[in-house]
Amino acid sequence: MMNFAHIDGIVVSTDHWINGERVSSARRFDDHSPIDGALLARVSRGGAAEADLALEAAAKAFPEWRNTPIARRAAILHRMHDLIIEHADDFARVETADQGGLLTYYTGERGIRRSASNFSAFADMLLERADPAFLGDGFRNQVSIGGAGPVVLINPWNGPLLLESWKVAPALAAGNTIVLKPSEWTPLTASLLADISAEAGLPPGVLNVVQGLGEEVGALLVADPRVRRISFTGSVPTARAIAAAAAPNLTPCSFELGGKSPLIVFEDADLDIAVQTAKRQYSNAGQVCLIGSRLLIADSIYREFLDRFAAAMDGFVVGDPRDPGTDVGPLIHHEQFQQVDGFVQRAIGDGARAVFGGGPLGDDGSLYYRPTLLVDMEPDAEIVTEEVFGPVLTAQSFTSEDEAIAMANGTRYGLTATLFTADMVRAQRVAARLDAGTVWVNCFWVRDLRAPFGGTGESGVGREGGEWSFDFYSEVKNTVTTV
Ligand code: NAD
Repeated sequence: MMNFAHIDGIVVSTDHWINGERVSSARRFDDHSPIDGALLARVSRGGAAEADLALEAAAKAFPEWRNTPIARRAAILHRMHDLIIEHADDFARVETADQGGLLTYYTGERGIRRSASNFSAFADMLLERADPAFLGDGFRNQVSIGGAGPVVLINPWNGPLLLESWKVAPALAAGNTIVLKPSEWTPLTASLLADISAEAGLPPGVLNVVQGLGEEVGALLVADPRVRRISFTGSVPTARAIAAAAAPNLTPCSFELGGKSPLIVFEDADLDIAVQTAKRQYSNAGQVCLIGSRLLIADSIYREFLDRFAAAMDGFVVGDPRDPGTDVGPLIHHEQFQQVDGFVQRAIGDGARAVFGGGPLGDDGSLYYRPTLLVDMEPDAEIVTEEVFGPVLTAQSFTSEDEAIAMANGTRYGLTATLFTADMVRAQRVAARLDAGTVWVNCFWVRDLRAPFGGTGESGVGREGGEWSFDFYSEVKNTVTTV
């Protein structure tokens, strides 16, 4: 049995982490690197027994963790932050091998370090919180906010540790115990996080990591009546399945789902910045929920924008994400690759034109796809309404502010919107009318960890980040005494 993966000399357990111990399953699933298809690990494949063990451990550990003084909880979270920073390069190399994102991204400020920051930020927020009290007419209402119980956290493969830390840190801070199920496509950094949690002094059973397939162990976890909260990041169909599984137990769910976000460029925009930002929409091979995959460009600058964008893509390197000169790496797996190419070929078949890209990088069966920009689609074409989740953008022109807003709001999603204009009055006016959880004006992909993130429509239910995370992961009690 292969209970460890060895990646660049880094040893990663391929077993579950339950009640402070490694637990192995006889059944395994294979984890391949999208970089070259190499077999990285044969990972324990959890089922009913492992789900039960992990939830039992989380339920048992809950009362003590909830009652652990907040200073102690915060100290452990800070220690987790420090240990992740200490091991940031290991995390980064494992993440790149497993997920295919750029090593320069994961080693930079926005990668593993941002994941670590979630632990310190939520620790600080925990210490700064003050429970409200209301005095009146002989009674004192003391509000207390504390952990809800065992929570299940289910994550996707496109930003593994980052998205996990964003749930694990506030759930722990608020006093919950956790069963985390990482994506079966990227199981490895969650396993490193489990090691870190033990080293940081997190008591056994407070954080459990169960590996396995979504429709197997994931489905069992979310249907269990012991679970007090479910936080899920992933696709819309899975969210529907989870909502149905949670319904009999009335388990509250938070959903961070897909997007088809607009990037609007008005005629007075700084085109250099707008073009550079358009290039960034290919980050992580377009496998990012918040990217602006629909470029909406003012008619008067449409041609110029396309020319400048095409010129800026000259020398853009698709290749091995471990190479510092690479701009974008592979897609995650073959099914995703086929899905992306299917969208592109159907669009071209229906009359769209590729300004650049339009197909796979090679014909060797590897997972590298050419960054693609499509134009001349029908306004309601599949390629402009459905999430592709690949390095594929569309560009459309608009002639008025009202038309831009109508186009921007014209999908079932509402995760983010980005707009470029020199007119800040217009920026405010347009931002107010956009259906999106986040609007970026003359900037992109920045968020203070205290600010909320989430989407409207099919982009999600609820908000996470800052106080919004505390709210979701907390039970609120009002204790009324006579005074
Ligand atoms: P997915 O829905 O296929 O899988 C996500 C997770 O759900 C995986 O861990 C999977 O094992 C698990 N799962 C699958 N079926 C399940 C079930 N029946 N019960 C419980 N768990 C189950 O999504 P994906 O392909 O991994 O991720 C891509 C999607 O995630 C895209 O739509 C993307 O936009 C979205 N996403 C959203 C955000 C956000 O913050 N809004 C962030 C990242 C990704």
